[in-house]
Amino acid sequence: MLYERLNLPVKDIYIVDTTLRDGEQTAGVVFANREKVRIARFLDEMGVHQIEAGVPVMGGDEKEAIKKICNSGLKASIMGWNRPVIRDIEQSLECGVDAVAISISTSDIHIKHKLRTSREWVLEHMVQAVEFAKKEGMYISVNAEDASRTDSDFLIQFAQAAKEAGANRLRYCDTVGILEPFKTYENIKKIKEGVDIDVEMHTHNDFGMATANAIAGVMAGASWIGVTVMGLGERAGNSALEEVVMALKHLFKLDLGFKTEIFREVAEYVSRASGRELPAWKAIVGSNMFAHESGIHADGALKNPKTYEAFLPEEVGLERQIVVGKHSGTAALKAKYAEYGIRLTEHQAEELLPKIRSYTVSMKRPLFDKELMYIYEDYYGGTKRE
Ligand SMILES: [Zn+2]
Repeated sequence: MLYERLNLPVKDIYIVDTTLRDGEQTAGVVFANREKVRIARFLDEMGVHQIEAGVPVMGGDEKEAIKKICNSGLKASIMGWNRPVIRDIEQSLECGVDAVAISISTSDIHIKHKLRTSREWVLEHMVQAVEFAKKEGMYISVNAEDASRTDSDFLIQFAQAAKEAGANRLRYCDTVGILEPFKTYENIKKIKEGVDIDVEMHTHNDFGMATANAIAGVMAGASWIGVTVMGLGERAGNSALEEVVMALKHLFKLDLGFKTEIFREVAEYVSRASGRELPAWKAIVGSNMFAHESGIHADGALKNPKTYEAFLPEEVGLERQIVVGKHSGTAALKAKYAEYGIRLTEHQAEELLPKIRSYTVSMKRPLFDKELMYIYEDYYGGTKRE
């Protein structure tokens, strides 16, 4: 099989979660402070190695929440996000973080049109900020914003200067989400060949490739992956924590030892706190992941779940559901009624099936269990229940 041939160049992969920073930057999303602390606890419990807790220089509630997270006795490293400005980093230090992200754009389009400055200015400010943070004993990630549209020689020069100033890693940001996995692999390989520095993948999902790109980066030698719960983040979002962890575990046989059983619970919490829907079809944690309606699929899943499931629902805190709807067959129908102690004969199942199908078509949805009971009673008058 393909994935058994793949040999990841890095054995230790670390996860940095930025639900509280990039996730909250989503247009219209605000977390209350107690929600931030709760989310940080969840991330720590799941096994996240580093939590990007927010932007200390924003002050007020934001800074208070970061302080509280730092004082919560978590195992994870706590990171504050900064511009390459000494005052920003001082605010991070005041919160008690052990790690700082120092972020600046590296692409010419950002340097010219957003910062209205030069590559030299970018290098100079980044180096000053890194040297300051280093002196304060911080773990440092230097974030190359818009790295995916940055001239590759300049990016290597930037990473080399960051390393020499004392940075621990380079965050490679696909800020506008324009990469695809093959290009990502090439780009990261080039950086790893040019500079001996840890690389973090920070990928956005504008073309639906955030998780694939993050993993392609790891295959080229990146050792950190930036994620958010359910991919919450600006525009189309980031690579999703649950997708990255489960893909590494099941497709690459690299188990990070995460407490995956609480993935659904945490996604539900973040969904409520952010006011963002958790779609039924969401990869890994959507409620439809283990719902089978089609006759052939339901029959297969009832005989052996492995026929139509990539992993077991319990692994992520979900349950298998047999949904009775337009595409159901007699096996699903019998299994569903059996849950309520009704043993349909094959003949009864064949009789009921067309009625149930026409009912679901007129309702344009699968049926609730109660509705199935009513149909049974209407048809058999409740007399054949034993
Ligand atoms: Zn981002």
